Amino acid sequence: MVLSPKEYLGFAVGTDRSLADWGQIAGYFRLLSEHCTRVRVDELGKSTEGRPFLLAIITASENHARLEEILHIQRQLADPRGRSESELYELMASGKTIVLVTLGIHATEVGASQMGLELAYQLAMATDDETTDALNNTVLLLVPSLNPDGLDLVVGWYRQTLGTAYEGSTPPFLDHRYAGHDNNRDWFMFTQQETRLVIEYVQNTWHPQIVLDLHQQGHDGPRIVLPPFVDPYDPNVDPLIRQGVAWLGQTAAAELSAHGKTGVMTNVIYDAYSPSRAYQHYHGGVRILAEVASVRLATPVVVETHELRAGRGYDPQVATWNHPEPWGGGEWGLRCIVEYEKIVALACLRHAAKYRNLWLKNFVSIGKRALIPKPQLYAFAVSLRQHDPRVTAELLQLLMFGGVEVHRATELFCADGVDYPAGTYVVLMQQPYSSFAKTLLGNQSYPDVRRSSDGLPRQPYDMAAHSLPIQMGVAVTEVRAPFTASLVLLREAPDFFPRLANTRLDARWLYIRPEPNGSYTALASLLTSQIEVHRLRHDCQAPPLSAGTLVVSGRERDVVDRLSARLGLSAGNLSQGDLPSVTTLSRLPRVGVYQSHVPNPDEGFVRYVLEQYTIPYTTLKDHDIRAGELMRRFDVVVIPSARFKDINGGLMSGVYPREYCGGLGRVGSEALLEFAEAGGTIVGIDQACDWCIRALQLPVTNVAGAYREEEFFVPGSFLRVAFDINHPLAYGMPAEAAVVFLRSPVFSVDSGAEAVGRYPMTNPLCSGLLHGPEKLLGRAALVECTVKQGRAVLIGFRPHHRAQARGTYKILFNALFRSITEYRG
Ligand SMILES: [Zn+2]
Repeated sequence: MVLSPKEYLGFAVGTDRSLADWGQIAGYFRLLSEHCTRVRVDELGKSTEGRPFLLAIITASENHARLEEILHIQRQLADPRGRSESELYELMASGKTIVLVTLGIHATEVGASQMGLELAYQLAMATDDETTDALNNTVLLLVPSLNPDGLDLVVGWYRQTLGTAYEGSTPPFLDHRYAGHDNNRDWFMFTQQETRLVIEYVQNTWHPQIVLDLHQQGHDGPRIVLPPFVDPYDPNVDPLIRQGVAWLGQTAAAELSAHGKTGVMTNVIYDAYSPSRAYQHYHGGVRILAEVASVRLATPVVVETHELRAGRGYDPQVATWNHPEPWGGGEWGLRCIVEYEKIVALACLRHAAKYRNLWLKNFVSIGKRALIPKPQLYAFAVSLRQHDPRVTAELLQLLMFGGVEVHRATELFCADGVDYPAGTYVVLMQQPYSSFAKTLLGNQSYPDVRRSSDGLPRQPYDMAAHSLPIQMGVAVTEVRAPFTASLVLLREAPDFFPRLANTRLDARWLYIRPEPNGSYTALASLLTSQIEVHRLRHDCQAPPLSAGTLVVSGRERDVVDRLSARLGLSAGNLSQGDLPSVTTLSRLPRVGVYQSHVPNPDEGFVRYVLEQYTIPYTTLKDHDIRAGELMRRFDVVVIPSARFKDINGGLMSGVYPREYCGGLGRVGSEALLEFAEAGGTIVGIDQACDWCIRALQLPVTNVAGAYREEEFFVPGSFLRVAFDINHPLAYGMPAEAAVVFLRSPVFSVDSGAEAVGRYPMTNPLCSGLLHGPEKLLGRAALVECTVKQGRAVLIGFRPHHRAQARGTYKILFNALFRSITEYRG
């Protein structure tokens, strides 16, 4: 006899103020795996911080016995190319609906991972006909936690504050080491370990037809929100997937009503535009999201009917077609969340079983439709001539990781009247995951959706743009007409393009080109090895090199060759005997990255990107900065994007223990002003520029603050900026590049401030939506200000946005290395 979760934990799942931690949850799943023939638990790998990352496969014992065969069938159904109708029919007859349920990606939304224990136990033990039928006809892939590190962090914080005045507060830390709450925006960039494990071992292995992702939202809205999603949908999502989402969401909603659950709302708040949250929409799967009303972690709340608050296009107090029975108010606890979520999960599983034939048939249809030629789009071509070859390779790598087939031309070919050399990469549009490739490689024209209440533009749920070539700075061409070419399918993603090192033994000076992001890893590595590095102050002709080119002594030829080979950099000899006009770096900058107690994914991604490029940094908390004397320890302090009030005021006292409250405040801002005046560099990223302008009294105005929504609206778009590439802040950049604009500032500068990047005099929109382009024309986007002996750098966009905006990483890196530059020559 297997222990129930209650017997195992010592408390029933969903008991107020009681949470199982990851050790307990993982332990229970392993127990089920050992004792129940319906449950198999695999460790897929380790989380970011080294915890076991688990997948539970739950199905009838008979299905477990032939799991490899079921998997094999599923793989063939996922790619219907070359299979006859009768073959597919036979496969469908013996296949199962594959259902993936993912829990706890947002660790503060604690209910789902607790619920998973009870769901697994119930499925393992049930003998009723309905559950037996569900287990016979489906394979459930249950991820008990998409974020085990965060789960332990949240449970630890909850236990620590239990019974204190701070009980029920969310932790004053990011609940994923780097991505925080944005860990569910990583489903096309695949930067984080947890994302990669699920894509590789669950999604791309099993190709689930149904995916349920469980979340929680605020406590004073509807009790649960389910699809259909609101407009807009990304136009590249197959109509059958959209219908499936509506079908399944509405089915789960009906099941809740059948169980007497109230406050069930559909078709509000959540749209389906960004692929960052919905990998499955492009991989044959119907993904639904359930958002249940929260409690204070595991502490119940009392919400009276009149306290239920209306939001974007809904009112939880009013009965409507998509919200037939409002919740009557009262106490709402963890057990309520567990029950709502379990009903939804079981509804999906039963639906998957009952309509198994239809789910499999639609799955095959979606796969076949992906192979139909697209009007006016035959392929994308990725040329070998790129500003940053390695980032280009990264783009191809992530497409292939997402199941996209990439070809390489073995001979010259002509397409749309243009000649492409041998070696050109080609992504054909007639392939199973063509919609994923199309949405990531194409441009977005975000629809002008208006709010019914006041006619103003409606904010997308996430971003209005995601085009990777634009944000990564990679040249990709759309090919409209079919062409013939000799193409081979890549089995392995290119690591990076062949290095172009061409150094000679007798060279006095060697160069490394600054255009690739990887040149900053080389720069950090050289300085770590105490090798002096110079940077050209101006471009030169023979050989043609741009300003910012790294120059080192010819004695370091071995090191330069090694670095250029490892990082795919272009290196060679300077032809002049004498060193041209350069700036010199003889050590690494001492970098501080400010970390507020208000959890901020932008801060996490600064750290992630610096670590990826091996640029050392130190995290600075409020008290470190308030303590002053920063010049002794740092050359540059980075303030990641955050609102003025979060930086200045931090967390509220009373809600959190004193040591976490108060933000930088007056003392912190004076300490940073003193640091800058004494020669330090302060780098403000995006929204943090407002704080910098006020605290450091900079001669810059953020004019966007005065724009009304009806005249200026940019809901997460990519905009063109012209850079002064002879300025050290823009070294290595192209003269014009796209930046990520997300509630970003727009600068007007006075004397004492220098604009290094400006919006052009024409409409700067590259991808997304922009109302009021005239508000941007000629305005500054990247500014440097002198502050006595030091300086402030204002980056008025997201230079490293979610580790996606690889075309502008160099702006951030340059701002760091600029802090220790001395001039010579
Ligand atoms: Zn969530």
